[in-house]
Amino acid sequence: MDMNGEDARTERWEELGWERLGEGVGRRRLPGWDATAGLVIGRDAVLLYDTGATLAQGAELHAQVAELTGGRRVTHVALSHPHFDHVLGTAVFAGAEVFGAVGMDTLLPRDREELRTDAVRQGVDERAAAEAAEVLVAPRHTVSGEWTLDLGGRQVLLANVGPGHSGHDLALLVPAEREIVFCGDLVEESGEPQAGPDAIPARWPDALDRLLALGGDDAVYVPGHGAVVDATFVRRQRHELARRFSVA
Ligand SMILES: [Zn+2]
Repeated sequence: MDMNGEDARTERWEELGWERLGEGVGRRRLPGWDATAGLVIGRDAVLLYDTGATLAQGAELHAQVAELTGGRRVTHVALSHPHFDHVLGTAVFAGAEVFGAVGMDTLLPRDREELRTDAVRQGVDERAAAEAAEVLVAPRHTVSGEWTLDLGGRQVLLANVGPGHSGHDLALLVPAEREIVFCGDLVEESGEPQAGPDAIPARWPDALDRLLALGGDDAVYVPGHGAVVDATFVRRQRHELARRFSVA
């Protein structure tokens, strides 16, 4: 079959289990807990959004990013929120600049043991959870409000739109043919949004309003768990959450 370069590239992403969302932008639904990892490739920098539930998942992401970028390394990591399935692989990306919502820098070291026990409770192997918790990386760069990152030839926006699903929700906006919004667990498609002990339900609808204001009606919204959705889906989820938690 004759194939142009664009198709060939898309096929390579798919072979590795990635969904290609735009030029140099994609996401993978990680096995086990179906957490999303997002990837944005710039001329000078490579950004990974979330790092998986274990060091093994992080290592697999590391290897796949090298394949998709012709041997480049992840230079920037952004963490969507402090739950085990999104942050425990970070230590693999030595030398990367790590970003998180303000407060993540103190929360992660403090709640290391809680993350470990939560991971084990959710089915992570005990030793794998202990290893990952021991080398857990806290963000050095904390985002309150918005932070523009220049990856070389493309700028992305980190936006602290929470709290909501957790006390520290950080979204990633990527300009592309259609704007791409990585939502973290503020949006879930594969099931009802999970509200754990650190959720702030009363403020969750507001967080989704901010997300929608940033992304707009035409953006592609990438949930923390599940298939890519549109603004209509996010708006509906916002109303369902407001009803569920009796928020105006
Ligand atoms: Zn979560």
